Amino acid sequence: MSLSIFDHPRDTPVCFIECLEGDIQLYLKREDLIHPTISGNKFRKLKFNIIEAVKTGYDTILTFGGAFSNHIYATAAAGANSGLKTIGVIRGGIVEPLNSTLDQARKWGMELLPITRAEYKNKTDPVFLDQLQRRFGSFYLIPEGGSNSLALKGCKEITEVDEVFDYWCVSCGTGGTMAGMLAGLQSTESLLGFPALKGGKFLKADINGLLKQANIKVRCPWRLVTDYHFGGYAKISPELIEFIQNFKHKYQIQLDPIYTGKMLYGVYDLAKKGFFPTPSKVLAIHTGGFQGIAGIEKKYGIELK
Ligand SMILES: *Cc1c(COP(=O)(O)O)cnc(C)c1O
Repeated sequence: MSLSIFDHPRDTPVCFIECLEGDIQLYLKREDLIHPTISGNKFRKLKFNIIEAVKTGYDTILTFGGAFSNHIYATAAAGANSGLKTIGVIRGGIVEPLNSTLDQARKWGMELLPITRAEYKNKTDPVFLDQLQRRFGSFYLIPEGGSNSLALKGCKEITEVDEVFDYWCVSCGTGGTMAGMLAGLQSTESLLGFPALKGGKFLKADINGLLKQANIKVRCPWRLVTDYHFGGYAKISPELIEFIQNFKHKYQIQLDPIYTGKMLYGVYDLAKKGFFPTPSKVLAIHTGGFQGIAGIEKKYGIELK
């Protein structure tokens, strides 16, 4: 069996950013640097799934996502890297010419199957998955956003750092990354999750469901901070854009407007509002996600890079 990019352990640097109000030391873990195309948490989430798929003899991976999905993009890259065929079931129609996410995914060999939003609701229905099996033959299934027990196992690795922090902060979509990190943190550390979507009512239950499924006992306190979704998924505001541009100028670190920009804006705002006791050490996770920036720039006619 040939070695894949997932067979080596990967460390990413923890960088000191600055001291915020009082004595709140802000650090950033650069998961965005983990790999040039499979960035951040998507690498962690795919790692043990790809290893498992190869070990159990599958030659095809099938997964679900939207037309601008970081997960679809990362799965296509990971499949190409590991010699696995990939099938991406895409929510809503796809239009030609393809957007940059899907265009690159197809170039990496991903077969794209667009389905309607109504059909997409069946993405976990055994009958629907059976139909897909009959059409494509046997495949290793990775759920939407890549969140399953093996993804949590990979995300636990994000917490493998040498220092102890009072607060860890991470952006949430499905919550799989947060759930995996909860497996690794100690009782003296707190994890704050910043949902990128509005209406995160179900997210807490989803995270608890993922924890249960993966048999994870959580030792650290955690909560969702729901005030920084900026109106919902991929919605932006001038303040958010200005924050991302300023951060880039000051630190030469690119944030994305869907996940990491909103989370870090939230961390700065919480610090300003006196949320963190001083002194505190705060570690924010840069989960990557640059490939989606082009879509947002085009949609809103702005420049983020
Ligand atoms: C997918 C993604 C997330 C959300 O991860 P979940 O495990 O679904 O919560 C956060 N940040 C970035 C950059 C992502 O691409």
